[in-house]
Amino acid sequence: METKTEIPAEPGGKVVKTDEEWKKELTPEQYRILREAGTERANGEVYKEFKHQGKGTYHCAGCNALLFSSDQKFDSGCGWPSFYDPAKAENVTLKRDTTLGMTRIEVICAKCEGHLGHVFEGEGFDTPTDKRFCINGGGLIYVPAKEAAKEEKPVKDEKSAAKPEEK
Ligand SMILES: [Zn+2]
Repeated sequence: METKTEIPAEPGGKVVKTDEEWKKELTPEQYRILREAGTERANGEVYKEFKHQGKGTYHCAGCNALLFSSDQKFDSGCGWPSFYDPAKAENVTLKRDTTLGMTRIEVICAKCEGHLGHVFEGEGFDTPTDKRFCINGGGLIYVPAKEAAKEEKPVKDEKSAAKPEEK
């Protein structure tokens, strides 16, 4: 999963590009996920990264739209990054997907129509929505929250950290 230090600028409106343009701008993995509705390997490197990420936001790797945040992240154990809700609902579109002989709800970026993953409901997870947005981390950009990135350690002044005086 790509990581950036600064929150990228939100797209102003719909982001429409040709296949050739997408191919140039995206990595092969991002292109496969976002533009060809590919699915990354379950429990792969991206998932391991995701599990160790702290506070931060997740943006579309295609258009930078804010999609998810660590506030709605939960550990579903399914092998893909999971959220119980989008961070910005208007940036996420849901669409019925009947490929592979199943009826699923596809999760799409509302700005660039990039494929993100699927959403499943009513699985019994102890979250506020009981929804599992099962997302390909490879299609996201992670931006660690500033506080978390800095994480200043309290500087202890050794001299003033008074030891009990010995008499
Ligand atoms: Zn997008």
